Amino acid sequence: MRYQGKTCLVASMHEKERAIRTSFESLLGFQMEVSELNTDALGTFTGEIERSIPPKECAKTKCLNALLAHGKQIGIANEGSFVPHPVIPFISVDYEIFFFTDLEIGYELCISKMFTETNFAAAAFSEFDSILELATKTQFPSHALIVRPNRWEDKKICFKGIQSIDHLYDAFEKSRLVSSDKQVWVETDMRAHKNPTRMAQLEKLAKEMAQRLATPCPVCSIPGWGPVDRMRGLSCADCGAETNLIKAVIWGCCQCPYKESIPVDQALAEPQYCPLCNP
Ligand SMILES: [Zn+2]
Ligand SMILES: [Zn+2]
Repeated sequence: MRYQGKTCLVASMHEKERAIRTSFESLLGFQMEVSELNTDALGTFTGEIERSIPPKECAKTKCLNALLAHGKQIGIANEGSFVPHPVIPFISVDYEIFFFTDLEIGYELCISKMFTETNFAAAAFSEFDSILELATKTQFPSHALIVRPNRWEDKKICFKGIQSIDHLYDAFEKSRLVSSDKQVWVETDMRAHKNPTRMAQLEKLAKEMAQRLATPCPVCSIPGWGPVDRMRGLSCADCGAETNLIKAVIWGCCQCPYKESIPVDQALAEPQYCPLCNP
């Protein structure tokens, strides 16, 4: 196998190697190394540093910066964003991206997934007791909180990784004193090492990445053969018109142009999805 005994560098300040190590070692034979490079320079969840580039580019930049700094060839990085659900905007989803590159053979693979299970939440509070409801709902203290002044002139005042009531109270008082509207901003700490739910999602996505890398292209044998696109247009069962439902999954290679189209199990679409039968 291509990666047996090779080193894969994980660019992460927040212990993401915990999510990646098991599948990358067992499925691919990698030895994992961690880059301690400061990735916060590319932006943080807490907004002290705004992220100015799209998440995929951010993951790629993290990965390539780490490889350059450590003189390595193979690496992986992750980027997560917490965004409104595309269909149900009042719930938040965890959108995770993994970027992997192998500079020895000059290819890269990026996979992403939307997870609906997340404790992501944030609100401003003027009284300590009212924070407790949010704390309970977001699985505090196993999942950490972040506290800062709501009106935030000095962006240095920010208490992260809070996992005890005493620490929460202390952070609340200190933030309230310097907040110009006397309100305190409380949000879930989404950094992987402070958020077991997110760490578990990363573990699932890292496993998908490892399975993908363990699958060689049937034509050129480069690792990373897997689903790359979807083809819509499943025919309506009643009138045969094309619907918006997926009719095939396209599998592709990271390196060569070879592709295969694999039809979905469902042969025809229910008329309720048809633009002609149910406009
Ligand atoms: Zn190929
Ligand atoms: Zn129809």
